[in-house]
Amino acid sequence: MLSVTFLGTSAARPTVERNVSAMALVREGETLLFECGEGTQRQMMRYGVSFALSEIFFTHFHADHFLGVIGLIRTLGLQARAEPMREPMRLYGPKGAKKLLGQAIQLGVERVPFNVDIIEVKPGEVIRDAGGGRREAYEIHVFGTEHGGGSVGYALREHERRGRFDVDKARAAGIPEGPLWGKLTKGETVQLPDGRTVGPGGIVGGNRPGRLVVFTGDTRPCAAVVDAAQGADLLIHEATFGEEEKERAKETGHSTAREAAQVALAAKARRLVLSHVSARYSISAEELVKEAREIFKETTVAKDGMTIEVPFAD
Ligand SMILES: [Zn+2]
Ligand SMILES: [Zn+2]
Repeated sequence: MLSVTFLGTSAARPTVERNVSAMALVREGETLLFECGEGTQRQMMRYGVSFALSEIFFTHFHADHFLGVIGLIRTLGLQARAEPMREPMRLYGPKGAKKLLGQAIQLGVERVPFNVDIIEVKPGEVIRDAGGGRREAYEIHVFGTEHGGGSVGYALREHERRGRFDVDKARAAGIPEGPLWGKLTKGETVQLPDGRTVGPGGIVGGNRPGRLVVFTGDTRPCAAVVDAAQGADLLIHEATFGEEEKERAKETGHSTAREAAQVALAAKARRLVLSHVSARYSISAEELVKEAREIFKETTVAKDGMTIEVPFAD
C-alpha cells in the first residue's frame, strides 16, 4: 500500500480552509513527512496520520514549510519520555538545513530526549539509508528545483518488482507445486524430481517497475522536475497561481496551474496533484483545475485531509 495525505495545501500563510505545507506519505506502514508548516502536528491528529515517524524531508526554508517542526519535535519528546526506545529523528533539507533546523529544534527550554540528525542534501543525491539500515524496497532521489536558495524536491522510487509467476506454464512444464515454485519466482534455476533442470525463463515474466511519487515543493516549472518525474505514478507539483497571475508566478519563483500541467505532460506522468495554492483559491480552486486540465486531464487540486492512493500501473 502506498498513499499520500495532504496536511496543508495553502501557500505562504494558513487560511480557514487550508493549513500551510505538509504532506504525509505512507508506504507499507511506514510514514514519511514532507515539509512541516506551522500547525502540522494538529493536522496529523485531525487526519489520522501516525506520530510514529522518524524522517521529515524539507524542500527549502521559507517559514511556511518548516515552522511546524518546533512543536512537532516537542510533542514527540513528550511521547519519547513514556517510551524511551525512540530511534533518532532525521531531518533532511538543502544547504542551510543544519543552521535553520538546528535553531528550530533548540527553541524552548525543555530538552528533546532523543537524537535529531540533520542531513543536508544536494541535487543528484540518493537517500538510501534510513534509521534501521538500508531502505529495502525504495530510494529517495533529490533533485534541484527553481525557487532560489538551493531548493530541492524529492522523488520516492520503488525498486523493480519480480515478474509474475505463470501457474499454467509451470504446470505444463511438469513442475510440481511447492518450494520449487518459490525458487523459480526468486529467479533461481531448479532441479525437478525427474532430473531435469528448469530456469525461470518462460515461466516467470520480466521484472515490473515499482512506483514513483514526486514531490516538488515550491518551484518554477523546470527541466529538473520533468526529468525526475519521467513516468511518475503521481506528481505533486505546486501551483500557487492561476493564468491571470502568471507574471507574479515568475517574479516570486512559483508556478501556475497550467505550467504545472505542462510539466506533468512533458514527464508523461500518470496523475498530477496541485498543491500550495494562493489564499484566493482557498475556498474554490476550480479555476486552477480547469486551466490545468486543458493541458493535462488527470489533474486534481489537493485539499487538506485528502488522501490519494497510488496503485501499481500493472
Ligand atoms: Zn511556500
Ligand atoms: Zn517558498
